[in-house]
Amino acid sequence: MAAENPAPVRVLYCAVCGLPAEYCEFGHDFERCKPWLRAHAPGVYPEEHLASSSSGGGAVDKVVERLHGVGISTADGRSFSH
Ligand SMILES: [Zn+2]
Repeated sequence: MAAENPAPVRVLYCAVCGLPAEYCEFGHDFERCKPWLRAHAPGVYPEEHLASSSSGGGAVDKVVERLHGVGISTADGRSFSH
């Protein structure tokens, strides 16, 4: 009797950090993984997830922008916002 072949689990390992592609974002060097992931594992992350920080930005900069937009209050309650 031919044994049924269990579907082989193909884990795609990232060539940059060595982690399975799905785990790259938990690695310490996800930024460097992104180009590799886009080229070799396009299905693992949504495109916007891999969008490189071409404008020198990224999620962190968006947060900073938002913080700047809020206006800064001093400790005594005065606000520098208009
Ligand atoms: Zn990686």
